[in-house]
Amino acid sequence: MSGISLKSITKQFGDLTAVDAVTFDVADDEVLCLLGPSGCGKTTTLRMIAGLENATDGEIYLSGQDMTHLPARARNVAMAFQFYALYPNLTVSDNLAYPLHAEGDSTADIAAKLRDIAQVLQMDHVLDRFPHQLSEGEKQRVAVGRCIIRRPNCFLFDEPLSRLDVQLREEMRSDIKKVLSGLSRPTVIVTHDQLEAMTMGDRIAVMRDGKVEQIGAPQDVFNNPANIFVAGFIGTPQMNLVGGIVSGIGGAIAVSIGQDVIELTGELAQPGHGLKLGDAVTLGMRPRSASLESESGQGILSGTCELIEPMGAETLLRIAHPAGQIRAIVTDRQGLKEGGTIHVRFAQGSYRLFHADGNRIGDMV
Ligand code: ATP
Repeated sequence: MSGISLKSITKQFGDLTAVDAVTFDVADDEVLCLLGPSGCGKTTTLRMIAGLENATDGEIYLSGQDMTHLPARARNVAMAFQFYALYPNLTVSDNLAYPLHAEGDSTADIAAKLRDIAQVLQMDHVLDRFPHQLSEGEKQRVAVGRCIIRRPNCFLFDEPLSRLDVQLREEMRSDIKKVLSGLSRPTVIVTHDQLEAMTMGDRIAVMRDGKVEQIGAPQDVFNNPANIFVAGFIGTPQMNLVGGIVSGIGGAIAVSIGQDVIELTGELAQPGHGLKLGDAVTLGMRPRSASLESESGQGILSGTCELIEPMGAETLLRIAHPAGQIRAIVTDRQGLKEGGTIHVRFAQGSYRLFHADGNRIGDMV
């Protein structure tokens, strides 16, 4: 059995179902990121794995052992929190060794583990310093070191990088990923930062209202979101999601978006999606799949250019279309002006189509 296994785990706080029948497995050498908006139940799920919160229902297995009703101290998990607390009056060495002393390790064992961890985290040069003499990134690294030094059953991280500035987060993301991949322990990382989840997770689980909406490899979830919620949550800028009506089903599926008609070819044009003329659907398009056209026509969406936002090498255009706002990212903005009419085409094969109930239609490549 895999390293961490949750079977229909549920947590009720009074009337509130904070976690609702969540089921997933994390393999021994896998990093799973729990991603979702504030209040969706990520931290509560993590705390139930750690034994800091009792599950109302369901089962939790660690290394194949049923831990559902065992207290935190019997689970041998290591958890690092968003607010890392280092002991201010202990040196980095002593902070790192603290959990080992608490577990009664021998002096020789502690020294060996300290040497290892300092090497893994490249912290030899700060071992004798006190926390106030460290940068934020170094403090974070000590907190991670204290978490991994014990070689527990699994690692649990709650927003491990949220206190760091953007540049440091980027560095630490790859640092932590490197360290974790050398340890071969099942790891769950809670984050609301999709970039963090996409870069650090072998798989991500997108949560909403206590439920897992989709679980899969980051690129797969990005390319093939299971529903409108996931489609809108993953990706920056957000995927365009515009309402339309099925206006043709012979051969290709045609979708009318306001005055414009988009014909969907490829996999989406195959029969068997159960669509009828007049069905309400939502069409999803990533802003980076857009290209500009000089005039309106088949497969082109036309609207008014509301805003031109330079983003360095790229430019984000906000287009007012009768069906709603459309975002397009282009590399050449010559000749564009706010208030002007703009025609945009999204690449065939990049469209995603969703039923009125929010679920995606068809599997696309
Ligand atoms: P965030 O990203 O803001 O930390 P989260 O996804 O981690 O959010 P949780 O902290 O797991 O969300 O909370 C899930 C829901 O459970 C929220 O509505 C929260 O208010 C509620 N909740 C969490 N802990 C308790 C508690 N001890 N008592 C009552 N309600 C709680």
